Amino acid sequence: MEHTKVNIRQLEIADIERFIGQIGEKSFRVKQIHEWLWQKHAHSFDEMTNLSKDLRQQLEANFTLPALTLNTTQLSEDGTLKTRFETFDHHMIEGVLIPTSERKTACVSSQIGCSLSCKFCATGYMERKRNLSYDEIYDQVVMINQQSEKHHEKSLSNIVFMGMGEPLLNYKNVLKAVERISAKDGLGMSQRRITVSTAGVAKGIRQLGDDQVRFKLALSLHAANDKKRNEIMPINESNNIEALIQALNYFYKKTGSEITFEYILFKDFNDSE
Ligand code: SF4
Repeated sequence: MEHTKVNIRQLEIADIERFIGQIGEKSFRVKQIHEWLWQKHAHSFDEMTNLSKDLRQQLEANFTLPALTLNTTQLSEDGTLKTRFETFDHHMIEGVLIPTSERKTACVSSQIGCSLSCKFCATGYMERKRNLSYDEIYDQVVMINQQSEKHHEKSLSNIVFMGMGEPLLNYKNVLKAVERISAKDGLGMSQRRITVSTAGVAKGIRQLGDDQVRFKLALSLHAANDKKRNEIMPINESNNIEALIQALNYFYKKTGSEITFEYILFKDFNDSE
């Protein structure tokens, strides 16, 4: 029976250590492999040139490395660079590099499609296909960082989870991606430069408080009362403004992290005093 290969980036270091021990390789190989996966951003085992050909073949035979690939990019007049990434199972997601003189910000996706159907959002009209895994979220950041270094000679200064999907409905992968982005043996970026934006999942906001995260939180508010918010954000029916206020207060009490509110003005809908 053919055994199913596992995604090597879903393994913990201890799992790789065990594998390396089992095949009788030296233990320093573990560190080399880990570096290729998370710091040198190899997207195939063949790229891991300081490993012997034999070891690369063993890795290939036992694991997969389903990295994102770059499909197309589109540059706007204001310098914003939009990238369409393709997943290993042929879904398309979007990430954006937003450069200003002070900041280079990456806006990344957390899900393929979205289940929340906000009326003002193109993704809301797409069916949710699946969550992105943390290594796929990581790949977006890595590739947008490379674009920033190439076009602006500067690394990313900020990351916002405001692309496709509701981050708090893919909670574990988003937190693990943040952990990898900020880890010393990852991208080493401060969590204070990361903002997770939610359409308002009260339970997830409380969970962030319990997990005492260090990144910032943004709430897409877009309306100042439940009646109006229900009209444009169906999630408000089960997570109303009062529930969100309570969850945000809880989050702030637990973390002390900054909370921002996003409010898009729609003419004659939510733009009165
Ligand atoms: S939660 Fe975000 S991605 Fe999903 S429909 Fe609303 S605005 Fe769009």
